[in-house]
Amino acid sequence: MDIRCKICGFVKDIAPTHKDFKSANKNLSFLYICEHCSLKIQLELQKANDIYKFSSYPHNPPRHNND
Ligand SMILES: [Zn+2]
Repeated sequence: MDIRCKICGFVKDIAPTHKDFKSANKNLSFLYICEHCSLKIQLELQKANDIYKFSSYPHNPPRHNND
């Protein structure tokens, strides 16, 4: 059975033993994301997480009232 990656359109022929076969067979709108895209998403999420952590630090910059 052919399933298509929702992101890049890559078509993969999956065997009945494939972990996604049952879900894809039951549900025609099954969201399949190929290995390449899922890796890319993971990296993007990781990057976004790192940027968020960096930009949100410090939450409360110390104030100096020396005047
Ligand atoms: Zn893909």
